[in-house]
Amino acid sequence: MKSLAITSRSPEETRIIGASLAPVLLPGDVISLNGDLGAGKTVFVQGLAAALGVTGRITSPAFTIVHEYEARWPILHIDVYRLNSYQEVLDLGFEELIDPGAILLVEWGEAVGPLLPRRYLEVLMRQPLEDDADDLRDITFRPRGPEWSRKLEAMRTTADTLLDAASADMTSESRFVYADDPSARDHMQQRKRAGNGEV
Ligand code: ADP
Ligand code: MG
Repeated sequence: MKSLAITSRSPEETRIIGASLAPVLLPGDVISLNGDLGAGKTVFVQGLAAALGVTGRITSPAFTIVHEYEARWPILHIDVYRLNSYQEVLDLGFEELIDPGAILLVEWGEAVGPLLPRRYLEVLMRQPLEDDADDLRDITFRPRGPEWSRKLEAMRTTADTLLDAASADMTSESRFVYADDPSARDHMQQRKRAGNGEV
């Protein structure tokens, strides 16, 4: 299944990309966000949750572990970074968080990989290694299940439209690239080839 990748150029763009996923989400959907501290996982969730109707501030759940929001649908936002062991994750009742009535957003989801459902969306975020890349974030979407591929198509159209509308340079070209092998190097090379890596 093909991955979809884009380079965000600012926190605002990451929020727009997160928001673009909102229209295709339904209760029961699970999104696992991966990437180092400061990669932008929480910023992405802020855009997504705001677009789902969360009006309050959306902060990192790193210390409290689970944040619950009532929006268009119930949203569970969890960060498992601080859980030291698998046992702690089980103690937290992680399996009960996979709730068919709620949307589950898991930061550091790969740490609890075996507990994730068979079908989910993985969002991998990474700051490129180049100089002057402070505000750049490579975001790779890996669909786990065919319905996620279709949802990503819709997300891509929305994100391209909104990113274009929000930026000064008007282009009709998609900012996204497809990657069969979503490894970091491929992604970066594609971004350079596409010519939107230069700032
Ligand atoms: P994480 O949840 O992955 O640890 P956060 O979302 O809390 O990361 O923090 C990301 C930090 O990086 C924020 O301070 C944000 O302002 C900054 N940042 C800079 N550029 C971007 C970008 N393009 N997308 C997201 N965050 C960015
Ligand atoms: Mg975070």
